Amino acid sequence: MYKQTIAFGDVLLEPQYSDITSRKEISLATPLDSRRQLAIPIIASPMDTVSEWEMAATMSSLGGMAVIHRYNTIEEQAAQVKNALEVQSCFVVGAAVGVSGDLVERAAECYNAGAKVICIDVAHGDHSLMNAAIDSLRRTFETGMHIMAGNVATLEGFNRLADWGADSIRVGIGGGSICSTRIQTGHGAPTLQSIIDCAQTDRTAKLIADGGIKNSGDIVKALAAGADAVMLGSLLAGTDETPSEAFRDRDGRCFKAYRGMASAEAQKDWRGKTSSLEGVSTTIPCKGPVKNVIEDLLTGMRSGLSYSGARSIPELQSKATFILQSHAASAESDTHILRR
Ligand code: IMP
Repeated sequence: MYKQTIAFGDVLLEPQYSDITSRKEISLATPLDSRRQLAIPIIASPMDTVSEWEMAATMSSLGGMAVIHRYNTIEEQAAQVKNALEVQSCFVVGAAVGVSGDLVERAAECYNAGAKVICIDVAHGDHSLMNAAIDSLRRTFETGMHIMAGNVATLEGFNRLADWGADSIRVGIGGGSICSTRIQTGHGAPTLQSIIDCAQTDRTAKLIADGGIKNSGDIVKALAAGADAVMLGSLLAGTDETPSEAFRDRDGRCFKAYRGMASAEAQKDWRGKTSSLEGVSTTIPCKGPVKNVIEDLLTGMRSGLSYSGARSIPELQSKATFILQSHAASAESDTHILRR
């Protein structure tokens, strides 16, 4: 018995009638919860080669958000949060905590430092430990704390986390560009399918599509399928604002590291040992300021909404029609002259 699923590359959005004459008519605003709104639906991943204070400050000033990673001491992480919120244009910062251990203490320091979004960051979020973690945060802190939880791959998992008290839920297991979970464990689900399934929820928790998003087209597909926002790792890795040190190869080309938090390299650095390896480490070419990357993505996303005749994310979700691509259609969708 098996269920048929679809991934980003299996589908296209069918172009729709449009009366949008300028991309400026299109709003990409999205609610993070009933109190907070993001001007753009993009959140940077809590990874040590993606999000520290510079990424958090810049993403917030661009209308999105970053979740500062938890692979440091509590004091270091709280200092990162404070640094980001000095920067005047920074309005919202997220901070990651683990599902157990120093969870409450870390959340307290980061929350008191100004991180209003606390992300319980664990690979398999549909777990009894997550129930206990959300419970202990809810019992310790006022309702003003936004709790982001995850990751899940199924509607049942999404509803459980929502019922346990999560305000937003990261959806996607095994799809990350640096992820080897599916190879190591045989488990996971195509991120787009998980979004489609979880979007059937009748709960109010927000859906954050996480893992495997390669370009603005994938972001538009994720939003059309029901995501409220997307979380990005590789697309933002290599930018100036990432914590990773830039280096040059023999030909003078600039690179930065990008690594899974369950890679051998990351585990050795943060725990001094390795156990279950579910990620890899790599280098990617330097990309310059993250602002340029985000602006390119936003241009593609606005254009995408315009092809669906949609002026907002909810309108995209109500109008979008997915069509399956054959193998030949996928080849046609590529810039195929480059392969000739
Ligand atoms: P990307 O945008 O495709 O590069 O995926 C980034 C996402 O991969 C993150 O937001 C995490 O959910 C996930 N992730 C980070 N590190 C690891 C890992 O080591 N193994 C599996 N997934 C990871």
